[in-house]
Amino acid sequence: VTGLASGPPAEAGPPGIDTSVPHPARRYNYWLGGTDNFAADRESADAIERAFPGMRAGILANRDVLRRIVRYLATDAGIRQFLDVGTGLPTADNTHEVAQRIALDSRVVYVDNDPLITTYAKSLLAGSAEGATAYLEADLRDPEALLSAQQLRETLDLSRPVALMLIAVLHFIPGHGRARPLVRTLMDALPAGSYLAVTHVTMDVMPDDEKAMYRRMLDSGKIDIWPRDRDEFAALFDGLDMVEPGIVMTTDWPDATQSDVDLSRISIWTGVARKP
Ligand code: SAH
Repeated sequence: VTGLASGPPAEAGPPGIDTSVPHPARRYNYWLGGTDNFAADRESADAIERAFPGMRAGILANRDVLRRIVRYLATDAGIRQFLDVGTGLPTADNTHEVAQRIALDSRVVYVDNDPLITTYAKSLLAGSAEGATAYLEADLRDPEALLSAQQLRETLDLSRPVALMLIAVLHFIPGHGRARPLVRTLMDALPAGSYLAVTHVTMDVMPDDEKAMYRRMLDSGKIDIWPRDRDEFAALFDGLDMVEPGIVMTTDWPDATQSDVDLSRISIWTGVARKP
């Protein structure tokens, strides 16, 4: 044992994974109450939470709406194929679990660009015998490559309706107007009767002082979540038919189960639409 350490010992993570740098997926896992996270992730998460006390509640609300959207798509919309881009670390109620609880033959392709997720992806692949799941390491910023990947083509039939799930991922694509062409390319590859589901962090409903702080944190690189306003969010759905109740805050999407959170602090737009 050495005397004066310069800091806490680095925790050992999976081989090849740097645990000393905070990581969005692991931070997210921490907020969701998971154990696949390290000191740097927890410190970063706590710092963000101190600046924006609604962050953790927002993430829980986002996970709750993901569940409700999949349930809606599998039940009311009769969707049996899902393309879930920006999967995150496996947690409770992953898309295939919710969908296969309703229809055993549901097929899901998970996509994330983070190699860390790949090391944890096994539990995403243990679906029902009647359905199918696949995991694909690919980048949303290269939608053509994503669409032509073998795992996707082997698992989803792109001549039949697919639900494209972009849940809490587009705000990791910074830049005004940068998200829409990506969504467009993906939706163009899907047939009529397909769905688009998106959730996205926004500053629209933040108090002015929080907005100012958020901008400062963005400018200084202390936060990597790029917010979009309602107009830019709505433009993602151009040419599609919005499902009721349209574009709403996550907690206003039907059947929210959370009642103990301060709704005014949750600023995540949510929308689901059908391709005509
Ligand atoms: N959809 C999940 C997890 C959201 S966390 C949920 O809502 O609960 C966002 C995830 O998107 C992270 O795992 C991150 O690695 C992934 N991600 C960020 N940028 C991406 C990109 N360009 N391509 C693919 N995945 C990306």
